[in-house]
Amino acid sequence: MKEFRTHDGEVFVINLLPCPFCSADPEMKMSGNYHHKRRRITVRCRKCRIERSDASISNNNLWLVRVAEKNWNARSTVPAEVVDIVRTWERGLMQHAEAMQAIAALAKHGEGEG
Ligand SMILES: [Zn+2]
Repeated sequence: MKEFRTHDGEVFVINLLPCPFCSADPEMKMSGNYHHKRRRITVRCRKCRIERSDASISNNNLWLVRVAEKNWNARSTVPAEVVDIVRTWERGLMQHAEAMQAIAALAKHGEGEG
């Protein structure tokens, strides 16, 4: 839990998960304020510098901070083993499709010669 101060002087308590790529501590930064059209909040990893931003024209800073926090903290809930199985299955389907196309091309070629 940390405190984040907006350019409009509000202070919010934020809770950011570590970076999903390198596990380092992220930081939250703001550009603009209520008087700017480009008011945005960026959460950025201090180590690998991956970042994501959210902007708002009509919602207040509390909304923007909570959206930025929620989006940074979003993580896949699919276990890595399941992702591996699906990708292996996908590769198999692609190879099957390529084989079927090759067979179809050969058959067509054969018709032409016949
Ligand atoms: Zn990182």
